[in-house]
Amino acid sequence: MAFMVTAQAIPILSDNYAWLLRDEPSGATAVVDPADAAAVSRAIDAAGGRLDLILLTHHHDDHIAGVNAVRARYGARVVGAAADARRLPKLDVAVREGDTVTLGGAEGQVIDTPGHTIGHISFYFPNGHVLLCADTLFSLGCGRLLEGTPADMFASLRKLAALPPDTLVCCGHEYTESNARFAVHADPDNVALAAFAAGVRAARQAGRPTVPSRLGDELAVNPFLRAPDVAALAKLRAAKDTF
Ligand code: ZN
Ligand code: FE
Repeated sequence: MAFMVTAQAIPILSDNYAWLLRDEPSGATAVVDPADAAAVSRAIDAAGGRLDLILLTHHHDDHIAGVNAVRARYGARVVGAAADARRLPKLDVAVREGDTVTLGGAEGQVIDTPGHTIGHISFYFPNGHVLLCADTLFSLGCGRLLEGTPADMFASLRKLAALPPDTLVCCGHEYTESNARFAVHADPDNVALAAFAAGVRAARQAGRPTVPSRLGDELAVNPFLRAPDVAALAKLRAAKDTF
């Protein structure tokens, strides 16, 4: 089977996405950043009621608030960054860059992606080309630098940019439409971006999520991924903060 791990967006809170991952051959299931236990439990139950893993990207409440309730309900094991264990719910598995997590027959790679927070990690499942990057890389945007430096975020984005172009960018928020307004302002002559932004507006008007996006598309249209150096990224991020 060409694609073994599938990812389904679960809209939660005002504009967050938790993600339901399934290793299709085995039926093993994981949820990423379950900040709303009720909404996430409904999605898990609709998919058969099995939950093996809870994967956490970073310590913010809009990503971890439902963890203990979901863990108690399904008995799933909680995976998060060793470096940030003190700020996360109790971890069953503490991971660092280069570690892998096993979901049925699939393996996910842990990628250190600091910038939004110091301890932010992402997960990449090569056999579904599924990337869970939460508040590091958004469609047409990147996370605010609440703890890390522009150099941290630049290095994190370079790591994600190196993944295969058909990688599915499963991010943590539906920020794409407002990101598009800034992106078009920052890169007004980008024809691919103008077309992408029109598609985003149409999707939102139809009430559809804009994610996951394809990494190859983001490389052509996302100004933060396209920033050539740390200084350019710092300038863009600062401009977006006051846009
Ligand atoms: Zn966050
Ligand atoms: Fe967030």
